[in-house]
Amino acid sequence: MATKKTYAIGDEVFTECGKCKSEMHHIVTTMKDDEIIKVMCKGCNSTHVYRDKRKKAAKKAVSDKPKVKRRSSKKDWHKLTAEMQDDEFIDYNMSEDYSQLRGIRHKKFGNGVIIKILATTQMEVVFEDSIKVLMQNYNLN
Ligand SMILES: [Zn+2]
Repeated sequence: MATKKTYAIGDEVFTECGKCKSEMHHIVTTMKDDEIIKVMCKGCNSTHVYRDKRKKAAKKAVSDKPKVKRRSSKKDWHKLTAEMQDDEFIDYNMSEDYSQLRGIRHKKFGNGVIIKILATTQMEVVFEDSIKVLMQNYNLN
């Protein structure tokens, strides 16, 4: 990797100083393999543990991941439809009984997954962009 810079004792690094409470020029005083362990601040002459910003950023990225997972719920259309076969989506018709079915194909909203039967004539269906309450068992006569 051309961008990776390796340091040696005596090198100068620009990093945060706990005493100065700001980014300061430091001299590397202790190394372990390719990692900087301790640095001496040129501002206050104190020696402290080197705070690697790249490491902090990496840790943060990892801890952010579960948040994305938590967002997917029972009502996640992508997750639900991924488990279903094409023939499980039945053309939607409000007079049909969908209580034993899982999926519908709606002319306007596309493929939907029935997540809840609300009443004999109503069901909750999750579509790609929205959750709708649709009629079922509905007879105009
Ligand atoms: Zn300092």
